[in-house]
Amino acid sequence: PELWSDHFNDFICKCLIKDFELRPNVLDLLQHVFIRQIVGRERILQKQLMELIDLNQQIGTTGKTRHERIHTKKGGQIMSSSPTPDEVDDLVTLEVLDEVRDSIEQLQRRYAKDQIYTYVGDILIAVNPFHKMELYSPQYTKMYIGAKRTANPPHIFAVADIAYQSMVSYNADQCIVISGESGAGKTESAHLLVEQLTVLGKANNRSLQEKILLVNNLVEAFGNACTAINDNSSRFGKYLEMKFTCGGTVVGAQISEYLLEKSRVVHQATGEKNFHIFYYIYAGLAERKKLAHYKLSDSKTPKYLFNEHIKLGPDIVNNTFYKEQFDSVEQCFKVIGFTLEELGSVYSTLAAILNSGDIEFTSVASEHQTDKSNISNIAVLENAALLLCIRPDELQEALTSHCVVARGETIVRPNTVDKATEVRDAMGKALYGRLFSWIVNRINTLLRPDTHLGEDDKGLNIGILDIFGFENFKRNSFEQLCINIANEQIQFYFNQHIFAWEQDEYLNEDVDARVIEYEDNRPLLDLFLQKPMGMLSLLDEESRFPQATDQTLVEKFEDNLKSKNFWRPKRVDLGFGIHHYAGKVIYNAAGFLSKNRDTLPADIVLLLRSSENQLIRKLVTHPLTKTGKHTWSNSNSGDTGTGETTHHPRESTNMRTQTVASYFRYSLMDLLSKMVAGQPHFVRCIKPNNDRQASKFDREKVLVQLRYTGVLETAKIRRQGYSHRILYTNFVNRYYILAFHAHKEPDASPETCAAILEKTKLENWVLGKTKVFLKYYHVETLNLMVRQT
Ligand code: ATP
Ligand code: MG
Repeated sequence: PELWSDHFNDFICKCLIKDFELRPNVLDLLQHVFIRQIVGRERILQKQLMELIDLNQQIGTTGKTRHERIHTKKGGQIMSSSPTPDEVDDLVTLEVLDEVRDSIEQLQRRYAKDQIYTYVGDILIAVNPFHKMELYSPQYTKMYIGAKRTANPPHIFAVADIAYQSMVSYNADQCIVISGESGAGKTESAHLLVEQLTVLGKANNRSLQEKILLVNNLVEAFGNACTAINDNSSRFGKYLEMKFTCGGTVVGAQISEYLLEKSRVVHQATGEKNFHIFYYIYAGLAERKKLAHYKLSDSKTPKYLFNEHIKLGPDIVNNTFYKEQFDSVEQCFKVIGFTLEELGSVYSTLAAILNSGDIEFTSVASEHQTDKSNISNIAVLENAALLLCIRPDELQEALTSHCVVARGETIVRPNTVDKATEVRDAMGKALYGRLFSWIVNRINTLLRPDTHLGEDDKGLNIGILDIFGFENFKRNSFEQLCINIANEQIQFYFNQHIFAWEQDEYLNEDVDARVIEYEDNRPLLDLFLQKPMGMLSLLDEESRFPQATDQTLVEKFEDNLKSKNFWRPKRVDLGFGIHHYAGKVIYNAAGFLSKNRDTLPADIVLLLRSSENQLIRKLVTHPLTKTGKHTWSNSNSGDTGTGETTHHPRESTNMRTQTVASYFRYSLMDLLSKMVAGQPHFVRCIKPNNDRQASKFDREKVLVQLRYTGVLETAKIRRQGYSHRILYTNFVNRYYILAFHAHKEPDASPETCAAILEKTKLENWVLGKTKVFLKYYHVETLNLMVRQT
């Protein structure tokens, strides 16, 4: 108790001078008590203490501080990297004169010392180091388990720990939202969180732990690709829920995937590649001398893999990295529990997609007006058909012609070369999209927690959101629009949590707190999502007109979207601009309508349904959505993925007419509903430069990100605001033990709350009409006190 008394100064000085072993604790206390609480009021005292620490570091030999032990090895030399008086772990504790300059200065200085993590109150900023860091060894894992946040330097493991401890303490689901632009480090952060959470959740069953750790690797092999911005860019949104018992033991996992960028299967922009798995399998099968079995040849690279802009051709089959990755993906499949038969089918499907991409069409004049198409390389068609276990003549027919029903009669019409190519590509995209969903569904079945949860244990979960980051390429298409809208929605969710709801509560509860201005992106969300005049609704409307073109679409946008965030740039045909929260992007509407319609002709569906391969049949007999996205039932316990699956209620609506835009809207809502069900934690990834270079801190680049993500305003609101608002009843129920030793819980009155808070000697809290308003650091102290009683 005397630590909190007026003699604190004396006490610390004695510790510092006499007992080096106590120094890590002293540092914790210093940081917590002085930097967080007395800063501003007793700056001089703080300075004196810091000087004392420095003095002790010079004379101390045995008692290295925790910061020193962990953070400072460079070339074998130990250097001090504890925060100096004007350096902080948490931007909220900065005594700012100039928010922008001081924050950026701090981040840059820390980055130069490889301190990539910094707090802004309860939010973690992670600046991408672009090189391997010695920050994730078992030593670090241990150090962050159950530790007080101020005891260690900021770290992604601390976020995992806070989420986990909150889940267990409050018996409540948690949600960790990772955001940042493409290449900022979201996926890496998500991996680190899963690793730490599996340790925290101490799975009884080692194999389950291993499986959960492999899930990310597996889905990323299928869902990530090399883009102009990031060599391992996520081309889908991923919400991974780790499932725990109420006691906190990890018992399973479940992934939801959002909006895979299927168009990449058949076309990649300049300098970009197809999904990783295609290269892995091509090189891997070559290594095992199995290419011929899958009807592939090492001398002729499949077109879908051979982006003419990057001359990859022969390099793929010889690439040792790809070969290793193939082995590792296969290992993931096996450990997670896929059967060898399933694996064979997955490889056949991938090989079928690659083969079908090589089918070529030539134009043949016909007696009717429209030209017909012929397949010029029948052998390739036969290979594709063989792998899909369908009849080649039927595949040929489905590609080169289509049926129309007129006056009750079915008429077969020929496809032009363009049309046939479109059908071929639509088949490749649909097969891949459905294969991806099927894999995710199988993983969910294999990692379902049911069997591990007790009768009365409904279980808890921690969700980790890792979506594709904000993108702005030289040429931006429909995919970028969807990706950027999703990011816009996540930013809105962040704003709601950090600013809007907090400020609403001050008003409702009559609490006096400064209003913080922040950039509200609601008008942008309305521009995209409003019905019936939002951009996605207009796109859907236009997609329903057979005569509509991409030109009529942009004109429709121009006529109907009345927003300062939308404009038509001059001299860009089919161009339109959007001023997103993260910057201005010029989109090109070419292909928007066909990408949105995303039709897979019925002839192809029917043909694939006749396949003798069970997996192929399953991919298409499932309730159809034209997005290639369909729901696989998880309700059938014990389902090994081969049994019948049931329809999702959502699919009772007419999914056949569903467009990508309407499915996208649904997905966003689905994602949000999952997210709002948990208590959020935010990780904001920052990209320090555009060149993927280590140790390069482009101040302007970082500043733009700090601005648009609202980090600077977050620091302000965390400094001045109260991020935790707890109802009197909940507060008394949880903390009365700190002040009232009686067994009986006292009344949930403001007086009781005040008595508890006064007893704990915390400062700067406020009582509202029905809630206790606490600073973000109060809660940690209170919880720690409860644990110690
Ligand atoms: P996208 O939105 O395109 O998916 P992302 O935000 O998920 O991007 P990542 O793929 O996580 O970005 O990171 C890009 C690259 O940055 C990684 O491949 C890795 O090289 C590097 N990187 C990111 N975080 C770290 C880290 N903590 N340590 C070392 N390298 C990192
Ligand atoms: Mg990613």
